[in-house]
Amino acid sequence: MFKALVLDQAEDKKTVAEVKELSVDDLPKQEVLVAVEYSSLNYKDGMAVTGTGKIIRNFPMVPGIDLAGKVIESDSDKYKAGDSVILTGWGVGERYWGGYSQQAKAKADWLVPMPTGLDSRKAMIIGTAGFTAMLCVMTLEEAGVTPDQGPVLVTGAAGGVGSIAVTLLSKLGYEVAAVTGRENTHEYLKGLGASQILSREEMSADTRPLESQRWAGAVDTVGGNILARVLAEMDYNGAVAACGLASSFKLNTTVMPFILRNVSLRGTDSVSCPPERRAQAWQRLAADLPESAYETISRTVGLDQLVEVSQEIMAGQVQGRVLVDPNL
Ligand code: NDP
Repeated sequence: MFKALVLDQAEDKKTVAEVKELSVDDLPKQEVLVAVEYSSLNYKDGMAVTGTGKIIRNFPMVPGIDLAGKVIESDSDKYKAGDSVILTGWGVGERYWGGYSQQAKAKADWLVPMPTGLDSRKAMIIGTAGFTAMLCVMTLEEAGVTPDQGPVLVTGAAGGVGSIAVTLLSKLGYEVAAVTGRENTHEYLKGLGASQILSREEMSADTRPLESQRWAGAVDTVGGNILARVLAEMDYNGAVAACGLASSFKLNTTVMPFILRNVSLRGTDSVSCPPERRAQAWQRLAADLPESAYETISRTVGLDQLVEVSQEIMAGQVQGRVLVDPNL
């Protein structure tokens, strides 16, 4: 028997979360059985656990969109007992049972072998949020954004994706400006490497189609008015990697930045990211994320605290990353 957080739907359609004892036979059939060492809390997990939006596709569901741990047994030649693996995305914790559990089953093709230099704890301090931050950085690099071109902007900077994006970009030599709505995160963001802090309020103000050029690149985790302003402030040839909707999924903008300044807006998705790119991003994270980041950006909770921290992340109150230890 092992413990897992199980979500169910009450008669009034409200989501109910409870830590339950399960057996391996309760797990939906998949090729690889994993002993989960760590999972993490992402914005989407917050939505799932609090029942915000339609994240969970079928109940009962074990949430947790990522996990890292050791293979217990495998029906696939790709993995054997004892292998360390990472799983993010692919609908896990949405359509398929996820990481808020001491044991989980997965398709072999969903798994990434643990890269040299990482372990389960570090991998889940990074988690889906950090993996997405790395994909955003790679997207900017592919768009030709280099440190010598001028400052890059990160929105929702004190959150999970934002914190790791600030850390990575700063480590890679970029001058980083951070947008945050919380004054008490300024010192934290400076510690991660931000040299300029902008207020959420200032960046949410209505924008003209084009504003003064300020940014060579941007990682946007919030969407809405802020993304509209970021686009209007991009330098000629600038690129924005958009991955989130913490403010809004809407985007009210004009074609002006695109047709007059050659700006590009590039989407960044972590869920269905192809395996080769996943492996590449994890290798980069192992190499580029400084050791100090793991202590600075994380705190640890057990399964019992997940409802509480899910409410916190939905209220925009989580700083950095929340590591989930299902064995606490
Ligand atoms: P967090 O909650 O940790 O971070 C989001 C941050 O956005 C907050 O910390 C806050 O930063 C800021 N924020 C919150 N509410 C608002 C608001 N109303 N207006 C403006 N800013 C706000 O979440 P994550 O970092 O885990 O995820 C960030 C976003 O990225 C989410 O929308 C998530 O769904 C998305 N995402 C997308 C992925 C993909 O594959 N495309 C994968 C992972 C995440 P501050 O306090 O500094 O202002």
